[in-house]
Amino acid sequence: MAIKVLSVASEAVPLIKTGGLADVAGALPAAVEPHGIEMTTLLPGYPTVIAKLNRAREVHKWDNLLGEPARLLSAKHGGQSFLVLDAPNFFTRDGSPYSEPNGKDWGDNWRRFAAFGRAAADLAGGAVKGRRFDLVHLHDWQAAIAVAYMRFAPFAGRALPSVLTIHNMAFQGYFSASVFPGLGLPRTAWSIEGVESYGGVGFLKAGIQLADLVTTVSPSYAAEIRIPEFGMGLEGVVANRGDRVLGILNGIDTREWDPSVDPALAANYTARALGKRSANKRAVEREFGLEGGDGPLFVAISRLTWQKGMDVLPEVLDHLVGNGGRLALLGSGDAAIEQALHAGAARHHDRVSIRIGYDEALSHLMQAGGDAILGPSRFEPCGLTQLYGLAYGCVPVVARTGGLADTVIDANVAALGQGVATGVQFGRVDYHSLASAIGRTIALYRDERAWRTLQRNGMACDFSWSRSGAAYADLYRKLSDEGR
Ligand code: ADP
Repeated sequence: MAIKVLSVASEAVPLIKTGGLADVAGALPAAVEPHGIEMTTLLPGYPTVIAKLNRAREVHKWDNLLGEPARLLSAKHGGQSFLVLDAPNFFTRDGSPYSEPNGKDWGDNWRRFAAFGRAAADLAGGAVKGRRFDLVHLHDWQAAIAVAYMRFAPFAGRALPSVLTIHNMAFQGYFSASVFPGLGLPRTAWSIEGVESYGGVGFLKAGIQLADLVTTVSPSYAAEIRIPEFGMGLEGVVANRGDRVLGILNGIDTREWDPSVDPALAANYTARALGKRSANKRAVEREFGLEGGDGPLFVAISRLTWQKGMDVLPEVLDHLVGNGGRLALLGSGDAAIEQALHAGAARHHDRVSIRIGYDEALSHLMQAGGDAILGPSRFEPCGLTQLYGLAYGCVPVVARTGGLADTVIDANVAALGQGVATGVQFGRVDYHSLASAIGRTIALYRDERAWRTLQRNGMACDFSWSRSGAAYADLYRKLSDEGR
């Protein structure tokens, strides 16, 4: 019999996306469906989500969901089932899902996502007629608090098994203790076994503590978050859960990311016809106003943050250009990093070009036209851009951490000898390591045969959802058996 899973996420493509979470939550239903899993995704009713809904039906109403009226809409989109929490006082706002137009976090984020969690727990408890689920899969801190409601203030009915997936330990939903009375949880929830965390309220912490199983998005990251550098204060809680914390690598949506049919490209291609990539390279050069050249075209598509190591990138631009490379970068984030990158681009105006913004179609073209994609992350739970790079023959040059370590095979002597290398890895995220990795990449690029092998090896990798979809389905099945 099909297992019915309620997936609870703050983002899911194609309805709302600010980062990798959306890619994963959007791809998961189709990934698990062949394994007998029926997934429905619960999203907050951000204006862009509501606007994209077609023939939505109201299936439930709250007069008072943490103090505000709300209703639940049901709709299909692209063959997937969505439930959307339409609570205008919480979600109908300009700006991003998490911050005001000026970039400051919404001051009532704790209440907005507590309401989201409360609604998820009500659904899990059977509050909505005709909607029964066997298991709840929560994503990140915005959904994690649902399990606290399920445990300490359940709607009714039997307790459903729960899985929490951590997409990034850096975002924990940590708030001051003063918000606790507003959560509508009983006093018993205020404990180390509940939502209390370092004297405040920890949404993600509560999820890690209380979910039946915790996953994160790569095996290496699952090991790393047990130590302080990556656990960011929650390493103890993670370690306490022992083997209930495990890593399942994200997949990529190969319907969206397939260079042989991708409509965003200047020319489609396969691993057997890599020469066709040059039309895409020209298109990227034109788009970014870069001069041609016989060295590699590096690309970067990234949030411009410390996590992503983007503060180190401006330091290596002279080295990159001096060795014959060029760089096209698409991203946005920290103002100081943007400024430093602009300064570098001004010094090398025909060879380094920066586009501040978010542009999905351009990101596809860059993967198809770039020779190598840079991923110098200080930590990386899984990372998707290196996976897209592998699929598109855009060789990843990445730090050896988290999912980057798990998915790229460094072109060291052994891997080159065996013909299995797919990219370049480096250890520390600092000037010397990155500069040396860029140097190694440029040398490999100049050896045409070696480079083609790297590209083809990458394109032959299967990072589709098939394996990970099966792994999640297994997990759901085990948990729902345990819950019987
Ligand atoms: P994170 O979720 O930590 O930002 P990931 O590598 O897991 O990093 O996922 C980032 C996703 O967002 C990828 O799909 C990437 O292509 C996309 N992305 C990041 N920045 C941009 C941008 N400026 N324009 C278009 N797509 C972007």
